[in-house]
Amino acid sequence: MNASDEPLSYYRASANAHTGHPALQGDIDVDVCVVGAGYTGLSAALDLALAGYSVAVLEANVVGYGASGRNGGQICSGYSNSMERIEERIGKEDAAMAWQIVDEAVELVGQRVADHGIDCDLKWGYMHLAGKQRQADDLEHMAEEYTRFGHDDIRLLDKAAVREKIGSDAYVGGLWEKRAGHVHPLNYCLGLADAAVKAGAKIFENSPVISVDTGDAPKAHTANGTVSAKFMVLGGNAYLRDTVPFLYRRLMPVQSYILATEPLSENMAKSLLPGDEAVADCNFIVNYFRLSGDRRMLFGGRASYSTLQPSDLFSFMKPRMTAVFPQLGDAKLDYCWGGYIGITVDRMPHFGRLGPSTYFAQGFSGHGLSLSGMAGRLMAEAIKGQSERFDVMAKFKHPIFPGGRFRTPALVLAMVYYRLKDMLP
Ligand SMILES: Cc1cc2nc3c(=O)[nH]c(=O)nc-3n(C[C@H](O)[C@H](O)[C@H](O)COP(=O)(O)OP(=O)(O)OC[C@H]3O[C@@H](n4cnc5c(N)ncnc54)[C@H](O)[C@@H]3O)c2cc1C
Repeated sequence: MNASDEPLSYYRASANAHTGHPALQGDIDVDVCVVGAGYTGLSAALDLALAGYSVAVLEANVVGYGASGRNGGQICSGYSNSMERIEERIGKEDAAMAWQIVDEAVELVGQRVADHGIDCDLKWGYMHLAGKQRQADDLEHMAEEYTRFGHDDIRLLDKAAVREKIGSDAYVGGLWEKRAGHVHPLNYCLGLADAAVKAGAKIFENSPVISVDTGDAPKAHTANGTVSAKFMVLGGNAYLRDTVPFLYRRLMPVQSYILATEPLSENMAKSLLPGDEAVADCNFIVNYFRLSGDRRMLFGGRASYSTLQPSDLFSFMKPRMTAVFPQLGDAKLDYCWGGYIGITVDRMPHFGRLGPSTYFAQGFSGHGLSLSGMAGRLMAEAIKGQSERFDVMAKFKHPIFPGGRFRTPALVLAMVYYRLKDMLP
């Protein structure tokens, strides 16, 4: 698949100036070979290059081609699982470390933006919104957990308070938090790539890895060359597909779409989201939205378990946006695009090793903007010899998706069930 075959995203159209990277030609030896130039791979490459390792990043397309250059830009806190459930699975002590890791993931975004001077419209402030009472009850439970884990800068919102924070009647309750936020995701990704290159990493674009050897001396093979390394980091996530079947069987690539309006007037933008927060609702098929740096409404959602692109993405997405913001019915729609989110069966990220010196992390299940950067950091730590935090995350065992090669139809049926559930009071 080539980037030019796809609808242009708002992010590509507003990307910061950046230089391209050559394709791999011939065979090279490095300390660490990284597959994939998204947040996961680039984050590992950056930390390792800063620590003095020689690093080669192989990217099938261009930097940020995958989810990292297409996402909702929402810097989420926490996991797609309750901490209660996580404590049941790995015990209280390790769960406390897992919480500290996800907290640090969010901080890491802010730190890297500051340390490397990345120009990416970073803003703090986030709202989870409930469209029905039972979702508002879930948010109360979430607030209790957040407080238990030391987040005191959160606020539950009743219907009247929600109405002050958003120009929509679609919601009855909410949870506001200060520590999460939003960012121009592609510019953040390009900034990480620049930082990694400045630290000494080499990036090869248009260099799809065809196969990997994950033995004592890992190797990644492309059509025109091979990278031999002491360590390998697999950061291909939902875009890696069949290249590593063990990983692909434990991941479901799910399409999500985002619609961008024209830039809105200052008054309109203020009437929709006066606090300029990022927002996600509590539906299983989640709506997520925010204003861009140039005041467009970026409205995402509508997951699809089929791999088909809808023939008309605009008409596919617009009703979803106008159900929340009818006042945008006449707004001109400038961009609509999609991308693959990698989800796991239980929505916890999948960390692990394949062989003695090949590390992977994938399946951030819609929470990857910050968590994937942290995954890169934990893999870099493990390569440097400190694997305690990586090993805690690797404690989550991941079954293969039920249904084998029929998993897509099975999940389409599950989606119909959850979509109906979203519609019930
Ligand atoms: C539409 C959409 C909206 C989203 N919204 C949010 C959000 O608001 N907040 C949030 O937290 N998360 C969100 N996510 C998820 C988030 O974007 C991802 O979790 C995160 O970007 C994953 O980063 P990654 O580096 O692991 O994978 P990716 O960014 O997908 O990078 C993988 C890279 O590997 C490359 N690659 C794959 N196979 C090979 C190969 N064989 N050889 C060489 N290179 C290869 C790909 O080309 C790609 O560039 C969203 C995702 C999508 C698609």
